[in-house]
Amino acid sequence: MSRILCPLLFITITGTAPALDITSRDAWNALPFTTSELVLNPVLFVVIHHSEVPPACYTKRECTLAMQHIQNMHLEYKGWPDISYNFAVGGDGNVYEGRGWSQVGAYTPGYDKDSIGICLIGNWTEETPPQNQLDAAQELIQYGVDQGMINPDYMVLGHREISEVECPGDGLFAEISTWENFVEF
Ligand SMILES: [Zn+2]
Repeated sequence: MSRILCPLLFITITGTAPALDITSRDAWNALPFTTSELVLNPVLFVVIHHSEVPPACYTKRECTLAMQHIQNMHLEYKGWPDISYNFAVGGDGNVYEGRGWSQVGAYTPGYDKDSIGICLIGNWTEETPPQNQLDAAQELIQYGVDQGMINPDYMVLGHREISEVECPGDGLFAEISTWENFVEF
């Protein structure tokens, strides 16, 4: 009997992935949000952005300040009810919670209900994000799939593919073009 149970137990243990360490809104001192519109999880599209401004951050402190900067810009200058991204990833390799898995973002008319927006903090027009930042973004996507928040057959898009913008920069766009689930629109 134990010979049968042991392999099952082994499968159960190895099948439980550890929770991804996402830096919460509280941890980066986010202002409260006023949005309430929800996406339809699991979403089909993952839209990749760069922040352009602020520039890349490489420590938790720098990235925390960058998150506050982005939220302030979106609230004050864009007039949006919150930071527009669902998540942001720093050059420190950390993932930062924006609107989270289920709140509609503010950047992709026509795709809002079926997408998650992920910003790689920095200006990636000429440079490419460091490997730890790219890895963290892909880990976040896989975690979203594992949590039932992102469709397993998801498609990765650059923001420029669905809006008249330069985002996510030539450097980052070239990089995501090599990702397995990238689609060209
Ligand atoms: Zn964008």
